[in-house]
Amino acid sequence: MKCFTLLTAALIGSTPGLYAGTSGFAHTDSDLPVDPVVAFGQLPNGLRYAVMANGEPQERAALRLLVEAGSLHETEEQRGLAHFLEHMIFRGTEQHPNAYDLNMAVEKLGGNLFAATGPDSTEFGITLPTECLVSGAQLLAEVVTKPIFRDMEIERRIITEEIREDLDEEGKPIDVDFLSRRRLWPEHPLGHAVTGPLENAMAFTGEDIRAHFIKHYVAENAVVCLSGAYRISGASSRGRTCGDDAGQ
Ligand SMILES: [Zn+2]
Repeated sequence: MKCFTLLTAALIGSTPGLYAGTSGFAHTDSDLPVDPVVAFGQLPNGLRYAVMANGEPQERAALRLLVEAGSLHETEEQRGLAHFLEHMIFRGTEQHPNAYDLNMAVEKLGGNLFAATGPDSTEFGITLPTECLVSGAQLLAEVVTKPIFRDMEIERRIITEEIREDLDEEGKPIDVDFLSRRRLWPEHPLGHAVTGPLENAMAFTGEDIRAHFIKHYVAENAVVCLSGAYRISGASSRGRTCGDDAGQ
């Protein structure tokens, strides 16, 4: 139980005050069986969590934060905004003011950081040695709660390039996943490309990014997931502490 408290408190920076509960999880309104090894719960501020102890791989833990802000939460004019925001979050924080600093901080923990935008959520993840779990949770919390949204024009070039990669020389889509979804749901946002149209990516402003962030990146809209051979004592079972050997 202690690990839940530390992790979630690190992620939201609040006083720990856990209580068990599963409201807000998809399975509560479903007859799908739930794996009993997963512990579900919710903090008083609404942040949900799911934790699963898993012995393999040894000494590694995976932390994920899902924010319910995907392409399904966009208006027609906003198509692609969740994905643009995901990119902008990785441009850094006050403490780590650019993407390079941020990546170096993660690598010093022996971890790696990734993000992906889907139709129903944006996912942020960090996988790292168990003795660095608390430091990793604090870093992930910093990234998703204190982004400074710098270098928007650099990120715009990266995103428009990503969109163009899925088009042929005539500007027609060639991505098989997108074409399949468009065929399946031609009238529904599920049939849209998560990256949105090129013209939207060219037009989004810093104000659009901030407004979407403020609206969606709140505790009630997020789930923290932890899986691994976690250990919160500050030392691994082999006696290492975080940073000893960059987690090697
Ligand atoms: Zn992208």
